[in-house]
Amino acid sequence: MSIPKENQLSSAAQDFIDENRLSKLLVSRPVDNGRLEEVVQKSLDKHPLTVEETAVLLQADKPQQVERIFEGARTLKRNVYGNRIVIFAPLYIGSKCINDCLYCAFRRSNPDAVRRTLSSEELKVQVEALEDRGHKRLILVFGEHPDYDAHFIADTVRTVYETKKGHGMIRRVNINAAPLDVAGYKVVKEAGIGTYQIFHETYHHATYAEYHPLNTRKADYLYRLDGLNRAMEGGIDDVGIGSLFGLYDWRFEVLGLVSHALHLQKHYGVGPHTISFPRLRPASRFKLNERYLVGDHDFKRIIAILRLAVPYTGLILTARERPELRREVMAFGVSQIDAGSRIELGGYTEAGDTQVLEREQFSLSDIRPLDEVMNELLRDGYIPSFCTACYRLGRTGEHFMEFAIPGFIKKYCTPNALTTLMEYLVDYGSPETRKEGAQLIERELAKMKDGQLKQKLMERLESIRTSDKRDLYF
Ligand code: SAM
Ligand code: SF4
Repeated sequence: MSIPKENQLSSAAQDFIDENRLSKLLVSRPVDNGRLEEVVQKSLDKHPLTVEETAVLLQADKPQQVERIFEGARTLKRNVYGNRIVIFAPLYIGSKCINDCLYCAFRRSNPDAVRRTLSSEELKVQVEALEDRGHKRLILVFGEHPDYDAHFIADTVRTVYETKKGHGMIRRVNINAAPLDVAGYKVVKEAGIGTYQIFHETYHHATYAEYHPLNTRKADYLYRLDGLNRAMEGGIDDVGIGSLFGLYDWRFEVLGLVSHALHLQKHYGVGPHTISFPRLRPASRFKLNERYLVGDHDFKRIIAILRLAVPYTGLILTARERPELRREVMAFGVSQIDAGSRIELGGYTEAGDTQVLEREQFSLSDIRPLDEVMNELLRDGYIPSFCTACYRLGRTGEHFMEFAIPGFIKKYCTPNALTTLMEYLVDYGSPETRKEGAQLIERELAKMKDGQLKQKLMERLESIRTSDKRDLYF
């Protein structure tokens, strides 16, 4: 087992999780409504919150205070983000793993896990199956293994981009894999990746040690915490953080996530592009410890509080959650969801209607087909978007101004969401979804003020509808 050395850390390597300070901030004390209002207002004015201010939101637990936080999150979501929801799908590439994270079916000591790595041919088959359903954005997921080094990840990314079928193409590939060294990040950057995601799982040191056995690579807390600093130093300015909720006190993890976001912002001038907040799910041969499991009500609080704490960061909600809950919490400020997801290796062509725990990392709660999710979003008034324009035009990192520049969303995001939606409807939509989609596009156009932009957008929509023109973006 090669354990990382100190000289493999970034220049900003630091254990910025001051456990004493965070725990003190979480000592239960009543929150004055005036103070709560100040914090919510600061966020509604689009200022990121400090760790202390976030702790105020975590402590405000009287029912009407929680309602105020929910309301604040809904308002921020409406004012800042509008009604777009970006859609992606996960694609599992390999289940070999040298680590032994107790909660994960891929852990090396699990004798029941099916170990498999997609061959290049199998990968193409999966990508084509995803394209045939209408996907344009993927996240590739890897266990941690010497076979899955930076060159392998980069080759996989290139194969995905090269695989095209009909009007189908994957336009953005994100990665969720083990932390790399700076040289490794340069290699994957070169292949044209979007976001590099690493979840810290739990920011609480003793719990981290408990779930990540010593003598595994992942046991090194600082090496993992530093993973996205190294990504920044390798030229990847688009990174995603996350925490696995259910291992330790959720309030502590929220403060950990906010501390991490502030650390990246301070050292690199850019915060994380996205935050994920997966809840622990059943996995093969893993006995869930109930102590810290997060119930639905607290899960809603997590999302609303994160929304308010980091107004410029995208929030990702995954298919680990049930359809009804996904539908409800969307309004609190979620900006991306996966849809039509299968996480078994080869699952997009080989899986049936049920899940087999041995074949996947954990089980999902929402395996509805993409078209069904699209239909529901449209009926609820959301614009499902497959837009990839910012990343392809180099609008990333500090140039990623989606949420910061007034009018940016109206000028770029909404039109791009509508053209990518039109592509979906024409090429892949079921008759019912086409009908819902056409109505939504009409309603959105009616909201736009007349002028050059609207004119150009209408021309583009028409040319997608009536010709083979695709991939038109602002
Ligand atoms: N192997 C790499 C790593 O651990 O960073 C990357 C991918 S891992 C397959 C992706 C994420 O799945 C992990 O970071 C963890 O948060 C999440 N995960 C693992 N087991 C889970 C479970 N039982 N329920 C929910 N999420 C889980
Ligand atoms: Fe391996 Fe990642 Fe699973 Fe841990 S969470 S056992 S590193 S795949």
